[in-house]
Amino acid sequence: MTDPVFRFAPSPNGHLHLGHAYSALLNQRMADACGGRLLLRMEDIDRERCTPALEQSMQEDLHWIGFEWEKPVRRQSEHFSVYEEALDRLIGLELVYPAFLSRGGIRREIGHIAGGVDNWPRDPDGALLYPHTDRQLPARERDRRIAQGQPFSWRLNMDRALNHISAPLSWREISLDSPIEEAAMVEAAPQVWGDVIIARKDIPTSYHLSVVIDDALQGITHVVRGKDLFHATSVHRLLQQIFDIEPPLYHHHSLLLDKDGKKLSKSRKDTSLRSLREDGATPAEIKAMVGLSFEGHNGDEWFDKLRR
Ligand code: GLU
Repeated sequence: MTDPVFRFAPSPNGHLHLGHAYSALLNQRMADACGGRLLLRMEDIDRERCTPALEQSMQEDLHWIGFEWEKPVRRQSEHFSVYEEALDRLIGLELVYPAFLSRGGIRREIGHIAGGVDNWPRDPDGALLYPHTDRQLPARERDRRIAQGQPFSWRLNMDRALNHISAPLSWREISLDSPIEEAAMVEAAPQVWGDVIIARKDIPTSYHLSVVIDDALQGITHVVRGKDLFHATSVHRLLQQIFDIEPPLYHHHSLLLDKDGKKLSKSRKDTSLRSLREDGATPAEIKAMVGLSFEGHNGDEWFDKLRR
């Protein structure tokens, strides 16, 4: 039996809010219940938006709500060469290609091909799927543009990647409402993302690439994160299969919503842990606010069975 390893992996590009508190404390609750380890990872590949000051404030807020993690913290910005190596493997397998179109360029291109963006397919986050134009660029033209210094990102050739792995993909999704042995098998559908970005113009990686590499390197057995990342798991499963990585178990928890039914965001002040604390809230009140009580599920017994 593998020792369970959990992680909380925020991006320090704003202040933590109640939704993060829920996610962090749920990870802690699950790790505690099965004697698992709990890691903190800073997903700070975006060097413009993520700052040491925001990371510092996140760590303070996490301490304050009683979240305890193993040291050291893994900072993705300190491991770009690891992600670059993984990217090189994908380049070697010819599963990624240089993609030159900017956001505006994508819209213009779709305008040429389809006469407009209205009927063009979109990914689960609502972004237009990348047209196949750059996939088909003759090698000489591609080399010419690169030599000229035209900026590009690396995109996955989704059709090739799916051919490469051949078998259909799935993952085990655990639910707090049913026994752990009954974890549902979810069929992955990476194709709904089209040719996703694997490395950005300015950074030799992306969220998808680094999260898959880090979860594997850190031996994560249980990925507990918000439902907003449910569909992204399809891309992660695909990359895991290409890199021959054993998938963890997943639990995508519900998201806390504000009074208007909207997802909480880092830009809103009223639900940030910082401002709640300044207004006199206590850590116990934060726990109560996020409803971190597990009555109604099969409680401790459920958590006891969390080992795989
Ligand atoms: N860094 C991501 C976020 O802050 C979470 C990644 C994950 O848990 O896989 O939304």
